[in-house]
Amino acid sequence: METNSKLKVIVDYDKCCGAGQCVMVAPKVFDQRDDGIVIVLDAEPPPEQYGPVREAAAVCPGAAIRLGESA
Ligand code: SF4
Repeated sequence: METNSKLKVIVDYDKCCGAGQCVMVAPKVFDQRDDGIVIVLDAEPPPEQYGPVREAAAVCPGAAIRLGESA
């Protein structure tokens, strides 16, 4: 069951290596700058984006995406 807690997307820009995996799996939440470094489009995405966001965090080769949950 989905709870009411909100998912927060936190990115460690120093760890981002610009691979772009996050943009592939969650293009509504992530974009990339010209140099490849990630841009967070929506730091508090709606629930329908939770799946893609969790997948992005899992596939990020730099482990740069951290997810926080706030009540
Ligand atoms: S998947 Fe990770 S390393 Fe690649 S662009 Fe996204 S945040 Fe950066």
